[in-house]
Amino acid sequence: MQDLPATEVKTTCPYCGVGCGVLARVAADENVAVRGDPDHPANFGRLCSKGAALGETTGLEGRLLAPEIDGRKASWDEALDLVASRLSETIEEHGPESVAFYVSGQLLTEDYYVANKLMKGFIGSANIDTNSRLCMASSVAGHRRAFGEDIVPGIYEDLDQADLVVLVGSNTAWCHPILYQRLLSAREARGTKIVVIDPRRTATAEECDLHLAVGPGTDVLLFNGLLAHLDRTGTIDRNFVDTSTIGFAEAVSVAIAEAPSARAVAAGCGLDESAVRLFYELFASTTRTVTVYSQGVNQSAHGTDKVNAIINCHLATGRIGRRGMGPFSVTGQPNAMGGREVGGLANQLAAHMSFDDTADVDRVARFWNAPRIARQPGLKAIDLFRAAGEGKVKALWVMGTNPAVSMPDANRVRAALKACEFVVASDVTRTDTTRFADVLLPAAAWGEKEGMVTNSERRMSRQRAFLPLPGEARADWRIVCDVAQRMGFAEAFAFDGPAAILREHAALSAFENEGLRKFDIGHLANITDGEYREFAPRLWPAAQGGEDPERLFADGRFSTPDGRARFVPVRQEGPALPVTADRPLVLNTGRMRDQWHTMTRTGRVPRLAANTPEPVIDLHPRDAMAHGLRDGDLARIETRFGFARARVRLCDGQRPGEAFLPMHWSGQFAAMSGAGALSSPVTDIYSGQPELKHVPARIARERVAWQAALVTRCDLRPTGFVHWSRQAVAGGWSYALTGTETPDQGILLARALLSATGEGLVEYRDRHGLNYRAAALDGAGALTEALMVAPAGQLPDMTWLTSLLASRDPLSANARRMLLSGRAPETEPAIGRIVCACFNVGANQLAAAVQSGCRSLDAVGKALGAGTNCGSCRSEIRRIVDAYPAQAAE
Ligand code: SF4
Repeated sequence: MQDLPATEVKTTCPYCGVGCGVLARVAADENVAVRGDPDHPANFGRLCSKGAALGETTGLEGRLLAPEIDGRKASWDEALDLVASRLSETIEEHGPESVAFYVSGQLLTEDYYVANKLMKGFIGSANIDTNSRLCMASSVAGHRRAFGEDIVPGIYEDLDQADLVVLVGSNTAWCHPILYQRLLSAREARGTKIVVIDPRRTATAEECDLHLAVGPGTDVLLFNGLLAHLDRTGTIDRNFVDTSTIGFAEAVSVAIAEAPSARAVAAGCGLDESAVRLFYELFASTTRTVTVYSQGVNQSAHGTDKVNAIINCHLATGRIGRRGMGPFSVTGQPNAMGGREVGGLANQLAAHMSFDDTADVDRVARFWNAPRIARQPGLKAIDLFRAAGEGKVKALWVMGTNPAVSMPDANRVRAALKACEFVVASDVTRTDTTRFADVLLPAAAWGEKEGMVTNSERRMSRQRAFLPLPGEARADWRIVCDVAQRMGFAEAFAFDGPAAILREHAALSAFENEGLRKFDIGHLANITDGEYREFAPRLWPAAQGGEDPERLFADGRFSTPDGRARFVPVRQEGPALPVTADRPLVLNTGRMRDQWHTMTRTGRVPRLAANTPEPVIDLHPRDAMAHGLRDGDLARIETRFGFARARVRLCDGQRPGEAFLPMHWSGQFAAMSGAGALSSPVTDIYSGQPELKHVPARIARERVAWQAALVTRCDLRPTGFVHWSRQAVAGGWSYALTGTETPDQGILLARALLSATGEGLVEYRDRHGLNYRAAALDGAGALTEALMVAPAGQLPDMTWLTSLLASRDPLSANARRMLLSGRAPETEPAIGRIVCACFNVGANQLAAAVQSGCRSLDAVGKALGAGTNCGSCRSEIRRIVDAYPAQAAE
C-alpha cells in the first residue's frame, strides 16, 4: 500500500517535453484539482490546456485493472510466470535476438532503466527500442556526430535571453505551449525576433516576425545557404572554429557548392529571395541566437543531416553553450530525455555509452555484472516490427505505447503484432495495440506512480503519486523486475523501489567516467529515500565550474576524443518518395492543439475534444478545387501504404500541393482516420527515424448518402459504418456517423446503436424514409440518448441536445415537445466551437465580445480570459478579431 499525501503534491505533467511542474491534490469531492507549480523552473506556474485538464483524466473508465491471459482475467503470479517462461523458452530455443521490447517516452526513468538493463545486460540482445525513435532519434544522431555525445547544450533561460529565436519544424504554440509563452514574454520584454521555418502557416507562424514557408524537406539547403552566407559576410568565429572544432573547411565548401547564393536557395526552397536574405542577415547580425528544432526536422528520411546543417551554423559562429545562444532540440515526450540517458534506444548503451566502443560495452557489463551483455545495436522500431512480421522476433513486449496506431505503415505493424507468436502489453488502458496481446499487464498511470523524468533542457523532476493504485495495477519498474526475477536474475533486479533504481543509474553514469561523458549524475548515487522523496527539479550534470555552469560546452570542449566538435558536411537530398501524377499531394502529419498522442487520456476530456471534434485534413483551397472537394466534404486519402478518411478543412496556411492530417485518431475514436496507416516507413539511414512528414498521396471525395448524429451516455464502438468518429462531451459522447448506403439502410444501421427500445424511445420518421429522429429519457425524465439521421448535408444542429445530455436535468414539457426538432424552445445563444480550451470560451462568445468593442487580443483576454493562459489559441482569436472590420463592412 502506498503512503499517499493528504495535501497538494508536486509532480510533473505527463505530456510534452517542456516538463511543466504540476501541483495536484484530491479534493473533498474526490475530484483531482491541478494547477501549475509556481516554483518549477520549466513553467513557473503556467499550464497549457492539456496540462490544466489533467485532473479530468484520472478516472477509471477504460482502465486495465487486472492481468489478463488470452482475454481472461488472471492472477499476477500466473501472468508473470507465463511472461517469464515464454521469454526464457524463446531465448533458449531461438536465441536472444528472437525477443524484443518496444517501450515509451511515457515511462519514467527508473522503468526505462530496468527494461534496458534486462534486455541489454541479461537477455543479451539490444532489441529494445522506444517510441522516441519516432520523435527525436535524428537529434540524438546529429548530436553524436557533432558533439560526440547526445547533449542538448542550452536551457530554457536561453529563450528568455536570446535576441533571435529561429523555430525550425516546430509548431511551438501548439506542441510546446508553455515554452512558446515564455518566448512571447521575452519578446515583449526585450523585443526578441522570432523566425519560423515551416511549410505550413501554423499558429506559431501567424505570430512570428518572419515566416519562411519552405518546401517540404528543404531545410538542409536553407541552412547550407546560411553557412555559406556567414562565411561570405565574415561572421565566422575563427577563434572558436580553430580551437574547438574540426571540419569547417569541408563543410563550408560543400555548403557553398550546394547553396551559392540566396537566389539559389530561394529557388530550391520555394521561397522569396528577399525573405531568405532577411533571415540570413538577421542570423548573421544577432549574436544571441537560439535555433529550436523539433519533429519537422527530426521526422525525416534526412533528419540527421538537417540537425547537423543547423548545428554547423552555430559551431561556425561559436554560438553554443553561451547565454541566449545555441541549437536546441525540444522533445515531444515527457521523458524522451530520460530514455536517452538510460539507453532506451536500440543503438545506445546505458548512461550515454556506445556500442561503437568495446570499452564502453565491457564497462557496462562489469558494472551490471551482466552474464550476457549485448555487443551490438538492436533492431530500431521499423525493423523491429518488420522482424516480428517475418517471424524473426517471436516474443514482443510493448510497454506504455500504441504502435498499432502511431507507427508508420501501421497496417503492416498490426499484421506483425497479429503474426508474432507471443505479445505482452503492459499499459494503463485498452488500446488498438492491446487487442493483439496474449498477456495484458495493468500498469500504473500518471498520478499513481513514482519516478523521475528529464525534460528538454536536461532538468530532472519527480513524478509523484497522489492517487492509490487502482485494482491490481502495478508500477512498470516493478512489473519488469518481477519478470526479470522469474527469469533467474533475482539479484540484479532486487530493487525495493524507484529510489534504489535511480541510485544504480546514477552510479553507472559516474562509473569509470573521469569526465569522458558529460552525462554524470554520480552525485545522486547515494541519494536517500527521503531525499528522493523531496527531490527538487535540477539540471544535470551537477554544478560544474565556469562562467555558465548550467550550459554545456561553455568551455569549448566537447565529448569527442580530442575535445573538438565536428562540422558535418551535408547535402540537400530529394524526397525519399517523390510525388507522382497518380499521387500528387505531399501528405504531412502532426499534432492537433489540444490532443496528446493516440488520445487515450486527452480524448476523454470534453473541453479538449471541443476544438477539433472530428478527423480533418487541411487542404489548400486550390487543391480542394482541383480535386472537386468542398469544405466539410468527407474525403478518402490514399498513399501506397494505406488509406484513411477525414473531413476536408480548407486552409490557406497550407502550401498548394501539400495536405496535413493529424496523427492522433485511433480506432477508439474514429474509423479509419489514423495517419499511421498512411505514413511512410522509409527511415533516415543514420538515426532510423521514419519519414512522417512526407508521403505522396491522392485524395477524392467520398460519395456520402446519409449522415447521422448521436449523443448518448453510452461508450460505444460502432461497426459497419463507412465512417464514424466520436467526441467526448459532458455527460457522454457525441458520434458523427456517415454512410454510402441508401438513407433507409443508414437509418437501420444507426438505429441499431440506440440502447432504448419500445416505449422508452420517442421516434419520428418522415414518409419518404429519408429522415429519422429518436430520443430516450431516463426514469427521472432526463435525456439519455438522441439520434438524428438525414440525407448528407441536412442534419440539424445538435448543440441543444448535447447540452441536455450534459445537464442530466428532467426535461420541461416544452423541451419534451421540441426534442425531435433538435431546436431549443427558447433561444439561448450557443457558445460555439471551443476556441480557448483553458477557459472554455467558444467562437460565438469571442465574436460577440469583438462586436461589443473588444478589438484586440488583450481586450478579448480582459473580457473573457481567452488566450491569457497557455496562449495556443491566440492566433485563432486574432483571426476572429481581424475579421471584425470586414464583417462590419459587409
Ligand atoms: Fe504539459 Fe502543456 Fe507543460 Fe507540455 S506545455 S508539459 S503539455 S502543461
